[in-house]
Amino acid sequence: MAIQWFPGHMNKAKKELQERLGGIDVVIEMLDARLPASSANPMIAQLAKRKPSIKVLNKQDLADPAVTQQWLNWYRKPGTIAIGLDASEKSPAQKLIEACMDVAPNRGTIDKPLRVVICGIPNVGKSTLINSITGRRIAKTGNEPGITKGQQRIMLCDEIELFDTPGMLWPKIVVPQGGYNLAASGAVGRNAMDEEEVALELLAYLIRYYGKELDARYNIGDIAGMQDWQVLEQIGRKRGGMLPGGRVNIQKASEIVLSDFRSGAIGRMTLERPDEWRAWEKAAKEA
Ligand code: GDP
Repeated sequence: MAIQWFPGHMNKAKKELQERLGGIDVVIEMLDARLPASSANPMIAQLAKRKPSIKVLNKQDLADPAVTQQWLNWYRKPGTIAIGLDASEKSPAQKLIEACMDVAPNRGTIDKPLRVVICGIPNVGKSTLINSITGRRIAKTGNEPGITKGQQRIMLCDEIELFDTPGMLWPKIVVPQGGYNLAASGAVGRNAMDEEEVALELLAYLIRYYGKELDARYNIGDIAGMQDWQVLEQIGRKRGGMLPGGRVNIQKASEIVLSDFRSGAIGRMTLERPDEWRAWEKAAKEA
């Protein structure tokens, strides 16, 4: 069963976003660098079609740098630029200012500052970025998706005002893999997912691309040719404890894998590549 995630208030959020974008010159969409396509909200791209836009691949400290580069290239087209970012960035404001200048050159003045909005799905790191720009904890950050915040307005510099988006912009699951990737990243509420199923999907992908890292973390041995469930059992045997009767605690093992992936403990990993995403989209359309 694929991830089922039917957030409410989509039309309300769309209306709010539409109104908000009315006076806006540049749209910044924050994405999770580990799952840039899955963490996008297609509504943003649709409503911001004619505006200069900046894609911020955030949490790049957790993502595979080579794949982040592939995504940065993929997003680069007229009117759009993409930058990588993470919470350790010393001057995120400067990076955003430069990106705005690149994508909308000579547009902002002291009399009429460039109006820039920052949006993205919950948990992608918007509050963390805004806090780090303002240097104050004015936005609440948390690791649970769905925390509502009031809107902020920040002067990035004399010529650029930054706004955040009110309301919730939920992800839209357009391909099944995208649902699993969102769930693995922690962007989907716990009660909307089966942790074992998500851990198995995650492991199937990691076995393919990050076998060495999995072995280094869990000491699995020769991982090539192993199935996702075999690797999960191994992890359970080594880390998750055993249940009475000598059975592996699969629930515990699943939680360990997900938590290790989210914190970056297994390594820097990305769950989708541009060419794969294209193929998944094609398959979903044909299904
Ligand atoms: P928001 O819902 O988009 O406002 O997301 P938050 O700013 O609340 O961030 C969600 C979680 O991601 C928090 O636990 C942050 O500490 C974490 N986070 C945000 N940015 C980064 C980043 O660049 N790297 C890492 N590793 N974690 C981040």
